[in-house]
Amino acid sequence: MIELDGSHGEGGGQILRSALSLSMITGQPFRIKQIRAKRSKPGLLRQHMIAVEAAAEICGATVATGQGEALKLGATELEFTPGKIKGGCYEFAIGSAGSTTLVLQTILPALLFADSASEVRISGGTHNAMAPPTQFLQKAYGRVLAQMGVSMQIELERFGFYPAGGGKISAHITPCPGLQAISLVERGDHVQGYAESFIAAVPFRVAERELACVAEGLNWQTEQLLPRGLPADQGPGNVLLITLEHGMVTEIFCSFGERNVSSETVAKHAINEARRYLSSEAALGEYLADQVMLPFALAGGGSFSCTTISDHMNSNAMVIEKFLPVKFEIEKQGKRHICTVNKLR
Ligand code: AMP
Repeated sequence: MIELDGSHGEGGGQILRSALSLSMITGQPFRIKQIRAKRSKPGLLRQHMIAVEAAAEICGATVATGQGEALKLGATELEFTPGKIKGGCYEFAIGSAGSTTLVLQTILPALLFADSASEVRISGGTHNAMAPPTQFLQKAYGRVLAQMGVSMQIELERFGFYPAGGGKISAHITPCPGLQAISLVERGDHVQGYAESFIAAVPFRVAERELACVAEGLNWQTEQLLPRGLPADQGPGNVLLITLEHGMVTEIFCSFGERNVSSETVAKHAINEARRYLSSEAALGEYLADQVMLPFALAGGGSFSCTTISDHMNSNAMVIEKFLPVKFEIEKQGKRHICTVNKLR
């Protein structure tokens, strides 16, 4: 039984999600205490409950709480004993604006090792602060996995913004014999950059003002600025996505429209993140870096460069090293960090 402390490092949901993915794949049971201890509402939220339930359904796991009670919202500890991973058709409803992408990211690695292909549909939030937007999974995270030999398609069927939710994503995942170790140290030549401002039940001028800021902040031309109107019933909501495609990697930086926050302030956040990335010489930004650690570890080798070493990266290394015989090594090199995965046995 692997013991985990959910208050370690960043102390959020990723410790639980990575443990679920790795437990499913390795067959090792785990016990976690102090789930999400460093968040303002600690314990399981809807998104984490569904991640646990989805993982349990897919591998026929037994889930128990420390007190022998049924799993419930707010629970701060649980025990997960996995069975065999089964491919097939799955549907999970978060029932709030909780992140569909984080639930998908929990079960996706395991479904790569299933006995057959899978179709997964998840409803809830598709564009949440503090989670990867769906396009990030499709283009940034998805591109890294494709380079490792993964075949999967992710569809964004309907947008779901906080607080209403109601969005839907689906994924088709084909099992693969194993992930290939890759090097993502260089980002490669610039291929293209574009900014999309999605608006649902929000005035069109919000998109125009955000994109005007991007034009000025990144010195971009009109054809790189894409206002995207969505049906009003998918809102209210607004997200600005700045996509930077290079020869080896695609990065996406986002910010969310909020009541009483100017479009300029919203745009500035994503623009600053994009600028920081461009001036860093790293292949991966902060978020993509913590998310690729698990697939890199499953590949048993490889290295990548990243802009920063986040608390999420440190916590994720701690969880991954408990389940897999790997060690992450991180060194600073000029304006970037190099993270290398070494196999221990
Ligand atoms: P946690 O805070 O532990 O629930 O983990 C949040 C996860 O969402 C981490 O894997 C982050 O890399 C990811 N994440 C948060 N914000 C973004 C963003 N703007 N773009 C992409 N991924 C994000």
